[in-house]
Amino acid sequence: MMAEELKKDEKSSNFLEEIIETDLANGKYKSIVTRFPPEPNGYLHMGHATSICLNFGLSKKYGGYTNLRFDDTNPVTEDVEYVDSIREDIKWLGFEWKNEHYASDYFDQLYEYAVVLINKGLAYVDDSTAEDIAEQKGTPTQPGRRNKYSDRSIEENLQLFAEMKAGKYKDGEKTLRARIDMESPNMLMRDPLLYRIKHAHHHQTGDKWCIYPMYDFAHGQSDSIEKVTHSICTLEFVPHRELYDWLIEKLEIFPSKQYEFARRNLSYTVMSKRKLLQLVNDKHVDGWDDPRMPTISGMRRRGYTPEGIREFCDRVGIAKRENITDVGLLEFCIREHLNKVALRRMVVFDPLKVVITNYKSVAADADATISADEMLVSENNPEDDKGGTRDIPFSNELYIEKEDFMENPPKKFFRLAPGKMVRLKSAYIIKCDEVIKDDKGEVVELRCSYIPESQSGNDTSGINVKGTLHWVSVKHAITAEIRLYDRLFKVEDPSSEEGDFKEYINSDSLQTVTTVYAEPSLKSAKFDERYQFLRKGYFTLDKDTSPSRMVFNRTVTLKDGWAKEQLRSQ
Ligand code: ATP
Ligand code: MG
Repeated sequence: MMAEELKKDEKSSNFLEEIIETDLANGKYKSIVTRFPPEPNGYLHMGHATSICLNFGLSKKYGGYTNLRFDDTNPVTEDVEYVDSIREDIKWLGFEWKNEHYASDYFDQLYEYAVVLINKGLAYVDDSTAEDIAEQKGTPTQPGRRNKYSDRSIEENLQLFAEMKAGKYKDGEKTLRARIDMESPNMLMRDPLLYRIKHAHHHQTGDKWCIYPMYDFAHGQSDSIEKVTHSICTLEFVPHRELYDWLIEKLEIFPSKQYEFARRNLSYTVMSKRKLLQLVNDKHVDGWDDPRMPTISGMRRRGYTPEGIREFCDRVGIAKRENITDVGLLEFCIREHLNKVALRRMVVFDPLKVVITNYKSVAADADATISADEMLVSENNPEDDKGGTRDIPFSNELYIEKEDFMENPPKKFFRLAPGKMVRLKSAYIIKCDEVIKDDKGEVVELRCSYIPESQSGNDTSGINVKGTLHWVSVKHAITAEIRLYDRLFKVEDPSSEEGDFKEYINSDSLQTVTTVYAEPSLKSAKFDERYQFLRKGYFTLDKDTSPSRMVFNRTVTLKDGWAKEQLRSQ
């Protein structure tokens, strides 16, 4: 998808906006309340970012607020590490929640609600095993049937439910079920489970509870307690909506409403916490924040910006039918934002030495922070008027990129070749006079002359050259390690392929260049700064950086090489 096409897709987010606009116009609500309800059983990924941008975006647009609610009804899989990371990720994306809740805060209230249903004759305690319950439930084409436990009196149900809570029974011995309709075409309406017994420690409520509400009995009720007006979830919850509405109606509580949109899928990755956890546990990646992961923490470490991610979510919008979004589109949005904010720097990855034979040092300012033969100045970002400049030392020994020289170049090679001229970025025009080779015939050095009158910004030489190369001064260069990332998977949709999704991992997704040569201004690189290494891509400092070694991640390439490659292979 190209940028022009993206605009059209913006419309897809409108179905929710239309609903909200109608609700507000009809006076159904004065303002709207949404919530983001992650289960704290993993780190947030790009799918969650979509949901966050959607929920927080809507409440912002229509004047209202969004709550953060940790959906911690399942005691076993949850962890405080995840709670902390979720908070950090939402803030980093640029959103603020109004209230922070845990579904477990509502356990007392939910228990009371269950008692209300029992008192209305709308819930009963069932002693059947999970297998029996499944068997009695029927099939989509065959009605289910009730068992003898469904005839228990209200008093008996109240007592048994209280005993379940008090810990009298073992896991799985009893459940609480809603009495709805065993013949409903919607299987979820066939007397669904409301509570199960689970003697497990909970990260919030400790050992207070040994019965836990099922998702369907916690989610809608929590929405209602918080007076959420528009409860937005993904399409797999469409069949749950009937039960969501039934429970709220019977309990006569605030009428929250559920709306569904299609999950966000991204090409060349997987986006389920369960699968991402496998990648972490099996050490296919270096943790949840590995820069190749589609997690928010991974994207942050890689150098993606919140602005770029939000722009991506806005442009793609949301859909009512599932599809796979091209990850190239996300990269496009990131690249667009980085182009505006990244500081331009010069870094040579694969050096070839250039000696300027006619260069006489022009003593630099005595106050200069870097002692230099000559200090040149270059703008930090041509896209930003306020971007300022930086000093770059120049000397008679430079590194250029090996691939920027060819001894026998084809016609349109505008870089350096014997007898040819190029401009060194923000410096001078040089001409290649002599090629020095080692015993094996490898080019090891170029002897060049420079044109003193050709200094960038002050060029009176009258010479026009087509190529401009990046370079660093040998004696001033600092070294760093560079990590280049490729897609984590070899196929577009690893989850839909045959066999295990891990079979489709791209084993070449990380390439490390242990030593590159960077201009000295990068010595003061900061974690929150973004860089464009000229002609090389966008980079950011990685957390593995130590006093003795700087490490940079390539966030994204300068151009969409991927799209080109795809065209070629067609
Ligand atoms: P996973 O399968 O990765 O565990 P989940 O849906 O179980 O995802 P939750 O923590 O329960 O994860 O989700 C929190 C919110 O984020 C929910 O409202 C959910 O609908 C939304 N969400 C999760 N994954 C996606 C996705 N891929 N696209 C859009 N929204 C998503
Ligand atoms: Mg989940």
